[in-house]
Amino acid sequence: MRRVLTAATAALTLTTAGTMLAGTPGQAAPTGWGRPVVTAAPQPGAPGLGDTYFPDYGNGGYDVEHYDVRLRYDPATDQLSGTTTILATATQDLSAFNLDFLLDVESVRVNGWAASTSTAGAHELVVTPARTVTRGQQLTVVVRYAGIPSETLVGGYTGWTRTDDGALAVNEPESAWWWFPSNDHPLDKATFDVSVSVPTGVEVISNGVQPRPPLAEAGNRTRWIWRTTSPTAPYLAFMAIGQYDIVTDTTPSGQPVINAYSTSLGELGPAAKASIERTAEIVDWESGIFGPYPFEAQGGVAGPLDGIGFALETQTRPVYGPGFWRRGANTYVVAHENAHQWFGDSVSVAEWSNIWLNEGFASYAEWLWSEEQGEGTAQEVFDFTYASYPADDEFWQVLPGDPGANRVFDGAVYDRGAMTLHQLRLAVGDDAFFEILPAWTAEHRYGNGTIVQFQALAERISGLDLDDLFTTWLFTAGRPDVATAARKAAAPPTEPKSWAKIRESHHLLSH
Ligand SMILES: [Zn+2]
Repeated sequence: MRRVLTAATAALTLTTAGTMLAGTPGQAAPTGWGRPVVTAAPQPGAPGLGDTYFPDYGNGGYDVEHYDVRLRYDPATDQLSGTTTILATATQDLSAFNLDFLLDVESVRVNGWAASTSTAGAHELVVTPARTVTRGQQLTVVVRYAGIPSETLVGGYTGWTRTDDGALAVNEPESAWWWFPSNDHPLDKATFDVSVSVPTGVEVISNGVQPRPPLAEAGNRTRWIWRTTSPTAPYLAFMAIGQYDIVTDTTPSGQPVINAYSTSLGELGPAAKASIERTAEIVDWESGIFGPYPFEAQGGVAGPLDGIGFALETQTRPVYGPGFWRRGANTYVVAHENAHQWFGDSVSVAEWSNIWLNEGFASYAEWLWSEEQGEGTAQEVFDFTYASYPADDEFWQVLPGDPGANRVFDGAVYDRGAMTLHQLRLAVGDDAFFEILPAWTAEHRYGNGTIVQFQALAERISGLDLDDLFTTWLFTAGRPDVATAARKAAAPPTEPKSWAKIRESHHLLSH
């Protein structure tokens, strides 16, 4: 949830975008009809997917179905090595294509033939296959590599967190670059097998389920094996490596629950457990509002004291930094990260500028949880949040619907984002509002969505023109006027019981 890369990558983006536009022109060839027809020569795949905020994230020319990530890691040295096998389909004739990746590459094979490689831009591995790839062709790309992720920097930054006892590959939107080559944009989702060999006694947690128990290997090592069978955006794949207590269970509906707690947490451990052990209860409650839980497993990882300062909705199993437990249990962050399983993970942004579809909804889930827990209704949390930011506060200058690449995780995306959903709820009424949410997660399940599409769905279900509401709350600077009962009375709203936890969570999640 930390974005510090924007300046570094924005400068390099221009270079790669220029490269993308400079292709070989199509060549005219005679046909049996005696008229020239353009038969385009195979082109390099684009170095990016044209995201308005991050144009060089992801790559053009192919679509990934599966990543098989097979690694070896040593906590003592932070040395990571291994092989990732990518199963993909070419979406155009390709003379070359890019992967987003930073570690040193030893070799790449495409359908068994050795390919040549070079690097470009901030994080591009350019692969030139020995044989031209044709549109529709199945690709098996095998990348062998090694490196020290904590020392592999872009603009002075690594998205990899090395800890005393291991590491966390947990970040947004940049995380994959430091541990597996990928098409790193939510537009290209895939399934994952992740296996990691570590010294025996070290635990490895990743997404999904364990298809088999850890395997003993030669040299006093153990290989941990994880599998994700639902489509996953590359940044939502993760690894937590270190000293963890793992707690497994099964929900009444038969879903595996796998939680893990860093042994470094000490006196924070019970608060972490009292929060994360409620995951199944919270997911069940959220399923009643958002629609069926989209994935094959549940859980949470309480990261170590020297790990991350935020939390992330890594698919099937969010990872939480220790800060959330410093003042006792916090179920609001659990409600937030698990709401993302629907809003962000199953339904992902088509463009990072649409981040409100993730953070506004996950934040509003906290307000609904507050109501459920009897710690303040969503209206009370709205009133208090609204009043807590004076009209001249800089907060109101950030547009949740288009915050800018530097402000994807600005507090306004969370708080004003949740306020927007509350205004929508007031405008359309509870019946329509609670029909819109599961309709959205059903229509875009395992895919992507845009704010424009969400507004259209809300208008279709409610029968209302909502353009003013969306324009005012998402795309207009300044504090919108509201006429709530509390404000009419001109009395400052009282602080809901949930406020301290929600505020603390948002302080850690946004920046
Ligand atoms: Zn979030």
